[in-house]
Order: sequence, then C-alpha cells, then structure tokens
Amino acid sequence: MIIALKSTVSEEKANDLGQQIKAIVVKDGNAFCLVTSSKVKEISGDFSSYIERTTVLDSDIQLASRDYKAETRTVDLGNGRIIGGNTGNTVMIAGPCSVEDVAQIDQTAVLLNELNIGVMRGGCYKPRTSPYSFQGMGIEGLKLLADARTAHGFSIITEVKDATHVADVIKYTDIIQIGAKAMYDHGILRACGAARKPVMIKRGFGTTLQEFVQAAEFVLSGGNTDVILCERGIRTFETKTRFTLDLCGVAFLKQYTNLPVILDPSHAMGYRYGIADLTRACTAMGVDGLIIEVHPVPEVAKSDAAQQLNHEEFRELYGSLGAVANSVGRTII
Ligand code: PEP
Ligand code: MN
Repeated sequence: MIIALKSTVSEEKANDLGQQIKAIVVKDGNAFCLVTSSKVKEISGDFSSYIERTTVLDSDIQLASRDYKAETRTVDLGNGRIIGGNTGNTVMIAGPCSVEDVAQIDQTAVLLNELNIGVMRGGCYKPRTSPYSFQGMGIEGLKLLADARTAHGFSIITEVKDATHVADVIKYTDIIQIGAKAMYDHGILRACGAARKPVMIKRGFGTTLQEFVQAAEFVLSGGNTDVILCERGIRTFETKTRFTLDLCGVAFLKQYTNLPVILDPSHAMGYRYGIADLTRACTAMGVDGLIIEVHPVPEVAKSDAAQQLNHEEFRELYGSLGAVANSVGRTII
C-alpha cells in the first residue's frame, strides 16, 4: 500500500507517521509517501488530514506501478537527454562493451559526435563469467570516460560490479548501470537507492518480470526515483543465439510499470549479424531508449567481441532507425 501524503506534510511528520505504521518513507516528487508491504490493505489510526491519496496494490510492484503513478517517470540523463515522461524520446546509448584504452574511447567519441549521440557506454568493472578473462580497467577506465565527458559533454553510463564501486562511478560518470548478474546484490541496490544519479537496472537472464521490478523497488524505496529498466535477453532452451530478447516482457513493463524502458539487443543476440534487424524491432516497440555496443575494431575487443558493431555498421544502422521511431510516434535523440 502506498499512502501519498499532502505536499504540506514535513519530513519530520512523514517519518513520525511512517514509524507508527512501520512503513518506508520515500520522497517521490514534491511530497512524501509511506510504503508498506502490499499485503497490508488498510491502516489503523486517523491519518486522514495528512493523506492525499491511498493506493492499495496487489503485489510489491508499488512505486513502479502505473496504478500508483499513471505517467511514465521522467529521468534526466544529462547532456540534454531526457528519457520517459511524455517526451516521445528514444535515447540512443552507444559505446564499447569494455573501456580498453584512450585511443578506443577517442574513436568512440568521434563517432558519437558525428551522429550527435549524447550518451556513451563503456564498462570498467566487468562481470565476466571466467576469472581468466579481462576484468575491466577499473578506476583508470573511469578516468578515461570522465575525460571524454569533459572534452565532449557526453553523459556517461558505466556498470558497478559491487557496492564499493558506486562512489567512484558517481564521482566520474553520470548514470549507474547495474548489470544482469549484479541486480540481485542488495548492497548495490541500497547504495543506488541512496545515490542521486540515474540508475539503469538490467534484467537478470533468469529473472522473472516480478523479480526484476522488485529489484527496482529497492532503489525507488531507498529514495532514488530516477530508475530505468533494461531488458537484455533471458535464458531459454535456445542456444543458437546468446539469449532470447523478451519483447513480450517489454510490453508488460510498458503497460504495468511507470519506469522508462531501454532495450539492449547487443547482449540478447550475441552475434553481430543479427543486431541491425533486432535493433529496428526494438525501436518499433516504442521504447524509451536503446543501448548498443560499438567498437572501432570488434574483432580485437577484450570482451563481447562477437556482438559489437564496427563504426561503419553502426552508422548504417543508426541511419535506418529514425524512420522506424517516427512510425511509432517517437524520435531518436
Ligand atoms: C554489458 O552491458 O556489457 C553487460 C555486461 O551486460 P549484462 O549485465 O546485461 O550482461
Ligand atoms: Mn558487453
């Protein structure tokens, strides 16, 4: 249950009411609200003079639910890129899987500038399946991203692998990415709840939609309402492609949650040959954003070499997306 309090109720009063009914107190927009388990259907005590509206929900998809907040939340990604709300924007995020060296980031910056893409991706703490694979450049990589941000104004998204990375990612970059393997880590979720930066959560490949959105609820209820969901493929019986992109799940998220949704065709497909078609299909879903892996020379990439597009392939793909986006009432920015 979510009890939205009147905007005139002070933080102190909200905390006092929250304590009385053992609710989590969250500032959502310009007012506080009290959130209890969805199992709670009514409260005792007369709070009526403080209450703006009460929403009883049937599951713990609560702050993320359209029943509570009908309009999609708006998240400012920085560098003029606003995602969600009624912007009609489909924000393109592009860059390599891993940050590898200064030349690679410089070349990526040239490509993004040429195409007027404002958000750069690049991982520095890589959640690899093998301990013998490249694990990422760590803080040195964050500094390279920060240099690209200073030089070109890009907004930067990069992933955290454990909660100790959150502070540095906040210091050097703009958007925190919680990876598919990290999304169950409550230390990360709680650190992101306390953060004042946008957070993109990627769905685990064995994660139900309910569990996915509930991971987002940890961040939202921690006080950070700048949360974006990212579908990047789930594991099915199929082995010919890396994962199976759950577009049905995306339809669910759009219908029942108020969070902006980004699609990641790169990790779902796993192979370069399918990325362009899949990205057009993703665009036609009318999502709020796309995140695509591009690399100057994918063949020598230190991670996800098989799926990253080279710059020419990406240019060609990008040029085809505007018309698809327009056909569903959206604009690629
Ligand atoms: C990535 O974005 O490079 C990544 C590791 O993604 P995921 O967490 O979805 O596997
Ligand atoms: Mn990757």
